[in-house]
Amino acid sequence: MDGAQTPNTAPVLILLGPPGAGKGTQARLLEEKNGFVQLSTGDLLRAAVAAGTAAGREAKAVMEAGNLVSDDIVIAILRDRLAAPDCAHGVILDGFPRTTVQAEALDTLLAERGQKIDAAISLEVDDAAMVDRISGRFTCGGCGEGYHDSFKPTARPGICDTCGGTDMIRRADDNAETVAQRLAAYHAQTAPLIDYYQSKGALSRVPAMGPIDEIAAQLDTVLSQRAA
Ligand SMILES: [Zn+2]
Repeated sequence: MDGAQTPNTAPVLILLGPPGAGKGTQARLLEEKNGFVQLSTGDLLRAAVAAGTAAGREAKAVMEAGNLVSDDIVIAILRDRLAAPDCAHGVILDGFPRTTVQAEALDTLLAERGQKIDAAISLEVDDAAMVDRISGRFTCGGCGEGYHDSFKPTARPGICDTCGGTDMIRRADDNAETVAQRLAAYHAQTAPLIDYYQSKGALSRVPAMGPIDEIAAQLDTVLSQRAA
């Protein structure tokens, strides 16, 4: 230790991906392997309100008035949170930024701290395949066994392989139209962010239709390239 001021090199990642792309699973794996901390906007707000920090008290007043918490307040909460010791190995941001205005504010905050976005990772899915994957799901109401019309059908139509039950349950929001709408909404909301991080040279696109460990290996590759 020479006592010199060293730059803050804790990585800051953003994971982008539509519902069903496995974002939560990959974030947990990154936490376990690298000691990263995932920071989701909802958790950050709740924790700041519970801790009664200045920004947390402000957020509480805004929410109690039925209003949306402003970007400034979220940035203030994030500023406090990033300074905590457990964030020293790196963080994964979840749910923030959602707009390019927020992305710019985040860049400013990170620059104050000598940090930057190391990688904005977009988990890329094939929309049509995603609709097939999600919309074909059903479960046995008797024993909870999961099935899929194409990938894991029951041996005899409508009869559970495990318990012989015939009460099959399909979630209303797992139908093809709803899944397609969710994906379209995701793309519409995320496109400006993808463009933003692409223009900054921070975007990495990772195909996310394969097995979990394959996707995880590709994320590891992205991280090692970013660290180099
Ligand atoms: Zn069953």
